[in-house]
Amino acid sequence: MQTLRASKSGLSTAQLPSSILDVIDSLTKAGYQAYIVGGGVRDLMLGLNPKDFDAVTNATPSQIKEVFGRRCRIIGRRFELAHVYSGRELIEVATFRAPPKKAITSAQGMILRDNNWGTIEEDFSRRDFSINAMYYQPRKGEVLDFCNAIDDIKNKTLRLLGDPSLRFEEDPVRMLRTLRFAAKLNFSIDPKILEIFTEDMTQLLRDVSPHRLYDESQKLFTMGHLHRVMPMLIEFGVWKQLFADIDTEITPFIERAAKNTDQRIQIGKTINPAFFYAVLLWNNFLARCDVYHAKGMVAAEARAQAGLDVLKRQATRTIIPRFAETFIREVWEMQSRLLNPKPQQIEALSGHARFRAGFDFLLLREKSGDTTTNGMGAWWEAYQDMSADEKERAISLYNRQRAKSRRKATETAVDEKAISTQIEPLVKEQESRSRRTRNKATSHTSSSDSRSRNNDFKASVNTGEINADHPITKRRRVQRDLSQVIFGPIQ
Ligand code: ATP
Ligand code: MG
Repeated sequence: MQTLRASKSGLSTAQLPSSILDVIDSLTKAGYQAYIVGGGVRDLMLGLNPKDFDAVTNATPSQIKEVFGRRCRIIGRRFELAHVYSGRELIEVATFRAPPKKAITSAQGMILRDNNWGTIEEDFSRRDFSINAMYYQPRKGEVLDFCNAIDDIKNKTLRLLGDPSLRFEEDPVRMLRTLRFAAKLNFSIDPKILEIFTEDMTQLLRDVSPHRLYDESQKLFTMGHLHRVMPMLIEFGVWKQLFADIDTEITPFIERAAKNTDQRIQIGKTINPAFFYAVLLWNNFLARCDVYHAKGMVAAEARAQAGLDVLKRQATRTIIPRFAETFIREVWEMQSRLLNPKPQQIEALSGHARFRAGFDFLLLREKSGDTTTNGMGAWWEAYQDMSADEKERAISLYNRQRAKSRRKATETAVDEKAISTQIEPLVKEQESRSRRTRNKATSHTSSSDSRSRNNDFKASVNTGEINADHPITKRRRVQRDLSQVIFGPIQ
């Protein structure tokens, strides 16, 4: 073990938010050891802007609770942690852990429970990469480096602590972390890892819960280097484990959406990981629509059914939370509305809660060479910048062109006499209900209750508002790490 001077490693307390210093100081004052560890230390040393700071201590979760009282909440079962609120920020405080005992690993060697408290040396040895295992005591101005991690920082090498096969078996998610950090930090992967990181090894990911894999997929989508990591996921066979039915040939649409996602992150815009899922699954959705069309199903019903099918298949790998599934289906449904809008509804459509995401999606399709959008991406793009008069003229021109092409079309035109300016919900009541019955865990409501919920849903979809009665708020909570992800409208 070597002790590095923080100042010589490019670290200073001035770089730290007061929240993490407050946590370290409070624990130290109560007589415990406390360090900053993990990505925060690593990123500062690399001159990057850390996403967050994690603390580690020899205090147990209940002792941490004693120190912080109501500012502290103990979370997790497999991996018990304390969440400490400092001002408006939340700091994760972990207790030093010893390697897990044999009895709590699965037949494949996967760790099922990891709450065996230990010393700092033991805690170090169960961390994943050397560069994630440096312990920074900001008040002492010291960094404890147990494995010469500083050299890996200098040489830009990602090195697993211990035997790589064993470490992947203990926790297969480390395979995803390897590719994520290599892409994010632009580090090379230690040859010892490359040697054992085979497609066979990736099979272990089948044992990881689809909830955890969804969380990890979100981290891959939102780290700012999605475009760089995608070919790596494919090359190492991880892609097939995460997205079983998605072609390993990256389409121009996916490519463009990935670059666009990275750019948005770079300029500090919000991104919604569900949007990228909508992109990834788009071709599968279209193929499934074709299957239902071929069976003679009407278009709207085929789209609804296809959406449910594709998301259900994906859920066997990564469980997309309900609200994100609804978002994805709405973005897909928006595509037909935007492609062939009813003239009376154009203005209302442009104010719809899902318009922005649907439009971004359409434009990305168009710009990546998808001619089936008929130029409507550019049309909507121009429409949004028009004055009220120009909009009126654009709509009437569109109306005339539409009528002309409709006359030409052999199929009988839809009777538009009864069309109102009200837009129908993108995801229909009937579909929501059948979706609910598929999942027993959420089917506790009486039918009248569910009817009223659906009416609320219709109303809120139309207004774009989500209130306390909205069905989304009543759904079973899926445990996921949202601390780094901003779910918001794409703008
Ligand atoms: P970032 O937050 O930038 O994605 P990070 O390294 O901080 O990267 P976290 O997931 O926040 O990653 O985890 C914090 C630390 O906990 C890691 O740096 C590592 O030391 C340890 N850790 C996290 N996940 C694992 C794991 N699966 N196996 C071993 N150690 C882990
Ligand atoms: Mg972190």
